[in-house]
Amino acid sequence: LTEKLSRLVKEIRGQARITEANVTDMLREVRMALLEADVALPVVRDFIARVKGKALGQEVLGSLSPGQALVGIVNRELAATMGQGQPGAELNLAAQPPAVVLMAGLQGTGKTTTTAKLAKLLTERRKKKVLTVSADVYRPAAIEQLKTVTKQAGAEWFPSTGEQKPVDIARAALDHARRHYFDVLLVDTAGRLAVDEALMQEIRELHAALNPVETLFVVDAMQGQDAMNVAKAFGEALPLTGIVLTKTDGDSRGGAALSARHVTGVPIKFAGTSEKIDGLEVFDAERHAGRVLGMGDIVALVEQVTANVDMAAAQKLAAKVKGGEGFDLNDFLAQIQQMNQMGGLSSLMDKLPTQMAAKAGQVDMDRAEKEIRRKQGIIHSMTPAERKKPDLIKATRKRRIAAGAGVQVQEVNRLLNEFGQMQEMMKKMKGGGLMKMMKRMGG
Ligand code: GDP
Ligand code: MG
Repeated sequence: LTEKLSRLVKEIRGQARITEANVTDMLREVRMALLEADVALPVVRDFIARVKGKALGQEVLGSLSPGQALVGIVNRELAATMGQGQPGAELNLAAQPPAVVLMAGLQGTGKTTTTAKLAKLLTERRKKKVLTVSADVYRPAAIEQLKTVTKQAGAEWFPSTGEQKPVDIARAALDHARRHYFDVLLVDTAGRLAVDEALMQEIRELHAALNPVETLFVVDAMQGQDAMNVAKAFGEALPLTGIVLTKTDGDSRGGAALSARHVTGVPIKFAGTSEKIDGLEVFDAERHAGRVLGMGDIVALVEQVTANVDMAAAQKLAAKVKGGEGFDLNDFLAQIQQMNQMGGLSSLMDKLPTQMAAKAGQVDMDRAEKEIRRKQGIIHSMTPAERKKPDLIKATRKRRIAAGAGVQVQEVNRLLNEFGQMQEMMKKMKGGGLMKMMKRMGG
């Protein structure tokens, strides 16, 4: 490794060690991040305990510092908790038609809007014949609202009035849907500002009358700590099958999703992404985990490092040295590129949390990066034969290479010197040592 590069890598690693020294500190930061995202306190506690258990049992290997690796574990665990890689994100319609979908949740969370969004999605993408009905008899405007948005969705709406009992509305709509061969019946319901027994009783009766294949709990991403208790109440009253997280287009970090998922145990199926009728997406647990964590993008850093350190290339190189083949300029270039693949040094620096970045600022990143690019340029100006056999490169060739790369001949000399030192080192090194060094370069 060149002096400068190795110093640089050491410096980066030095800062990483600030967090590495103290996993408790890291976990405290994670805890703060989750609380700031409005994840309910008991959920946070439980989650941290789980992560700690996993982290402590796990030896931190490879190119990351323990602190970074821990964030990786936190992020994976967060995504897993929110349903990453679990099936069932699609709306289940496997029922004798009409498949009934019941919407539940507090007032203002987005039930009516989501009902229309689902109607559109099912009509357009899954080619279903969809009927909607509102059992919100307390607010006449709510029934009208559903009528309007259902029209926008291109689905059909079943009339109801404030004088009817919700369960009668449900039965009439179900009967109509059966007789007119609808595939799906979406039932919008009344909400309250807070959970109360009358509301729970009503929705339980609706559930019993409709026997829905999906019972979706709608929760507002902007809902705070309270989301846990609301989700718990609905989860106890109804056999929920999924969660819809609305208003993810807002500023909130959406900790409500984690709380709701944690206490109900059902998957988060969709995310509302705007007020508009097409603002509904299949929930992406991984993306949402990053947002809930919101840790200066350190998550992205960890992913970037793990994804881009090309271990296959490192192994090939190690095998080559072991096999007695010479370390040539192509290998040297590969090592330099390894640094660059990580998005460049300054891009890595941008992703470090602020305290680390401040320290890192003492290193002149611009200069270091420029130098890497110049070196690449010089090697690129060489012919394949020259890269394989650097001894070929004498004065004339040096001048040609320098001209090609737009540098002075001295720089070509300097690079060849560095390469010479590296080559010496490689000769002395066994394969294992090289692997270790490559890893160090990577992280
Ligand atoms: P309900 O009382 O549960 O039926 O809630 P509504 O469907 O009437 O929605 C309440 C408000 O939230 C309305 O102004 C909606 O336009 C808005 N809303 C619902 N879902 C979203 C969403 O995903 N993003 C945004 N920005 N607004 C939403
Ligand atoms: Mg409504």
